Amino acid sequence: MKARNFRYVRPKSLGDAFRILGDAGDDAVPVAGGQSLLAGLNMRLSAPELLVDIADLPELQGQSFDGQAIRLGALTRHRELLRSDLVRSHLPLLTQAAPYIGHVAIRNRGTLGGSLAYADPAAELPACAVALGAVLVLGSAKGERRVQAEDFFQGLFETDLRPGELILAVEFPSPSAGTVTSFAELSRRHGDFALVGIAAVAEIDAGCIGDARLVYLGCANRAKVAQTVSKALIGQASRAADGAAIEDALRQDLSPEDTPGLRADTRMHMAAVLTRRVLDAMLNKVAA
Ligand SMILES: Cc1cc2nc3c(=O)[nH]c(=O)nc-3n(C[C@H](O)[C@H](O)[C@H](O)COP(=O)(O)OP(=O)(O)OC[C@H]3O[C@@H](n4cnc5c(N)ncnc54)[C@H](O)[C@@H]3O)c2cc1C
Repeated sequence: MKARNFRYVRPKSLGDAFRILGDAGDDAVPVAGGQSLLAGLNMRLSAPELLVDIADLPELQGQSFDGQAIRLGALTRHRELLRSDLVRSHLPLLTQAAPYIGHVAIRNRGTLGGSLAYADPAAELPACAVALGAVLVLGSAKGERRVQAEDFFQGLFETDLRPGELILAVEFPSPSAGTVTSFAELSRRHGDFALVGIAAVAEIDAGCIGDARLVYLGCANRAKVAQTVSKALIGQASRAADGAAIEDALRQDLSPEDTPGLRADTRMHMAAVLTRRVLDAMLNKVAA
């Protein structure tokens, strides 16, 4: 299929983009990497009248660290997460997760802001943003506001973005010295969206997990911390984790449904296997 007719505009500045988006209301959508939006247009899942191309706006680009937080512009492409020394040294979870996003061509075009705005519950970056306690910087003609990643994701493909608003940047608090991270995912083929995945961040205290934030992909309608599982990991020092306790905690946190070709109980089993893997990986980093 082909997309319905639309108009296309490439604003020269962020101020222009705000004005165009504000004036057009629901008739306009921003396009960044186009890797989700254009597929949806071609399938006629949506038919906006105006595409506002934000992909060249300098205000949405760049990476910086002010000693407290790492700020990544909304237009940071997935491939930059793999190549950036700043990201690798301060936010290794993003470097671990990025290779799982689609294929090379998609990672060359797709952006951090686009992935967060799209809010696919099986996507890697929303889960990482929540696990890392990121703050989204949102802007419109009315000004800027900051929203915790955990509050930004509100449901299946639903976010806190208001009409005319853009994600400008994402700010990640600088992890403390004892922080370890791990990312794991199962999909049918490399490059497919996750059947199940986990973004995990933990504080290590005297060789034990002191605090943990685990966020599952593909098992809930949005990216959110699995509170019961995260608490169940506190105090774990052994790589032979208590499987029954983890599975019990998972049943309280996750509510997968049967989908064509994958039963909910199979997904829960996969989530339990991946939970033990990320726990192993994080404790191995301490032992190393
Ligand atoms: C074959 C294929 C496989 C893929 N596999 C995966 C995968 O395994 N994991 C995964 O996570 N993704 C996957 N993707 C999607 C890909 O990661 C997209 O790049 C990403 O989801 C969206 O980023 P984008 O910049 O392309 O956004 P776009 O497609 O340009 O936009 C997506 C949505 O976000 C909005 N938007 C974009 N930028 C902003 C902004 N700054 N502020 C506000 N709204 C904005 C747009 O209006 C649109 O609604 C896949 C895509 C394809 C085609």
